Amino acid sequence: MLILLRNNAGSAAISQARNIAKRLLSTTTANRNPETTPATEHYDIIIGGGGLVGTTLAAALVNNVTLADKKVLLLEGAPPFKGFDPSGPYQNRVSAINRNSVELFKSINAWTHIEQARYKPVKQMQVWESNSDALIQFQHDNFASDVACIIENDLILDAVYARVKELDNVKVLNKARIECVGLPGKTGAPHSQVKLQDGRSFTCELLIGADGANSVVRKEMGVDVLSFNYDRMGLVATLDLNMDDDCDNSVAWQRFLPTGPVALLPLSAKHSSLVWSTTVPHAKELLAMDANAFTDALNEAFCRQYPRVDLADKALQGLNALFGNSSAQHQRQYPPRVCGVQDGSRATFPLGFLHASSYVCNGAALVGDAAHRIHPLAGQGVNLGFGDVRRLVETLAAGAYAGFKLGDTQHLVKYERKCLAKNVPIMVGVHGLHTLYSTDFSPVVLMRSLGLQLTQNLPPIKNLFMKTAMG
Ligand SMILES: Cc1cc2nc3c(=O)[nH]c(=O)nc-3n(C[C@H](O)[C@H](O)[C@H](O)COP(=O)(O)OP(=O)(O)OC[C@H]3O[C@@H](n4cnc5c(N)ncnc54)[C@H](O)[C@@H]3O)c2cc1C
Repeated sequence: MLILLRNNAGSAAISQARNIAKRLLSTTTANRNPETTPATEHYDIIIGGGGLVGTTLAAALVNNVTLADKKVLLLEGAPPFKGFDPSGPYQNRVSAINRNSVELFKSINAWTHIEQARYKPVKQMQVWESNSDALIQFQHDNFASDVACIIENDLILDAVYARVKELDNVKVLNKARIECVGLPGKTGAPHSQVKLQDGRSFTCELLIGADGANSVVRKEMGVDVLSFNYDRMGLVATLDLNMDDDCDNSVAWQRFLPTGPVALLPLSAKHSSLVWSTTVPHAKELLAMDANAFTDALNEAFCRQYPRVDLADKALQGLNALFGNSSAQHQRQYPPRVCGVQDGSRATFPLGFLHASSYVCNGAALVGDAAHRIHPLAGQGVNLGFGDVRRLVETLAAGAYAGFKLGDTQHLVKYERKCLAKNVPIMVGVHGLHTLYSTDFSPVVLMRSLGLQLTQNLPPIKNLFMKTAMG
């Protein structure tokens, strides 16, 4: 289902602006208690949404020398973060973090916290087809450095929160759900305004929407959004592996099945994390299975023989002979056998695509999933968000140095331009891969198998892909 959302111009916009102003000024007796509600506070920057991207942004802003004196407020709708126990069981939400994101954590002094807890470097990735023998294996500089790191999302949040708590200029409010916002371009007020569901209100020079795919800030900005559902769910789980003691579990595996990709991301010598993208009915079925039936279904997904496209297999043999390589079948390694799934670790998430045509307006900017949401097959979503963080901090610092106001669009568009140049090709590429692998139509299987194998056989092209994915 493809939706192009466009804000109505003219009278609709005027009445919308009036409504926003009314809502912002209203003090409903139902949710406002004059004795407990402070007067409107003013901040330099308000970040709406304290997920991975918003919290990292709060730390990165105040960590920047030029912006260190700015007063920052981080508003998060959820209750306070409970922290992370590195000796506890592995969590089911993890991210493949690329080199640039690791550099960002280092720059805000959050990396040591992660390093001292636990994370798993990925030395190699293998991606392969189910309708032919095509495969690709990525390793960096002949295993000299890691392709990515697998880190639990709550550990990232724990590391970044630890930094935020040390910074005097950042205030965090939990259970602070934004109800509505008013932006100078619509309200005519000099500042951006934020009103919470509990009636508290704030003003700021710059409001940053880090409030995820259903961003309230983005909706008030009135930007065009290209958005659609994949009609697929991402099923995640923590898995126990049957690995020999002398084997290092440091390979990330992904097989493209006709229903979507299934991936194993290493967590430790004996554990991996699962991301299985599949149809909604299949995901529900997998969720309802008992643990044994589930592990059987998963092991089968990695080795089951699907209908072959002979022409593709023959073309691959020819291609490998041309490059003097052994056949793809011989290059292929098999993932470790899964022997169990941790209790209560299975969960599903809807998958979709979203891209805001613009990331900025007077007094506001978007970062992370509020601006873009992609299929997890390439493990790029939050890495793009961390890229936004780096670019926004750089742009704001350069702007402040040159005397621009924080919310000045003239300067903010530089952030938008840099982000669009980086994010759009990756988003188009990831969506293209999803589309290409969503069919078993023979000519498409032939084309994509040749593409995958050619990339495997041509190091310069492979390195280019690697460089893009690693940041
Ligand atoms: C199955 C799966 C696997 C993935 N794997 C990877 C991977 O390996 N690598 C990778 O790079 N990416 C991955 N991603 C993508 C990644 O998880 C997201 O890109 C990332 O979580 C987005 O972070 P965010 O902070 O921008 O948004 P969110 O995580 O959505 O955070 C938004 C925050 O804003 C808060 N909020 C929302 N509305 C309001 C409001 N009105 N007021 C106040 N607060 C509000 C929410 O409570 C939340 O804390 C994966 C995604 C899925 C679904």
